[in-house]
Amino acid sequence: MKAISGCVDFRLDKQDKIVAVGSEWDFFALENDAPELIGSKVIDRPLLEFVSGKVTQQFVQALLQVVRNGKQSIELEYRCDSPTERRFMQMRVSLEESGLVHFVNTFLHTESRKNKILISRATQRGKNTTVRCSMCNLVKPLKDWVEPEQFEGSNTPKITEWLVIYGICDVCETNFLRASGVATT
Ligand SMILES: [Zn+2]
Repeated sequence: MKAISGCVDFRLDKQDKIVAVGSEWDFFALENDAPELIGSKVIDRPLLEFVSGKVTQQFVQALLQVVRNGKQSIELEYRCDSPTERRFMQMRVSLEESGLVHFVNTFLHTESRKNKILISRATQRGKNTTVRCSMCNLVKPLKDWVEPEQFEGSNTPKITEWLVIYGICDVCETNFLRASGVATT
């Protein structure tokens, strides 16, 4: 397997449509078993079509607003885990002179997981559906946000397959507000 060393980038137009993807994009899509996300299939489509969960969509819209309305660029750390690895990443979102918004996703480091963790998206939210933070990838099976492999519910056997819906945890929300200059503490 080729080590992922570069960055994965793409650009949005004023209507939030993906207008261009970088050279590493297709490699990353294929390596993550997502051939439906190769460049030729995402270009000209709105970014929000690929963002799961209402809360995460609002988060992305707020991020775009910050960049377009003065802040011009913002950097956030996040996770893009795979079943076998925790992948720590950084995104830099900036407004270009042309009016396009440029997203650059850079790999910081990865950690192997001891046990494989499978996550699938629930099509509907049920009473007991776990929320997964789209930014830090922690899950909230009960009250707290935890690493999926650390969760041991009182009567629940260790879960290796999670059915989740996507949201944003409090810590990531606060980090975003801080990075965008809205919150100063
Ligand atoms: Zn989070």
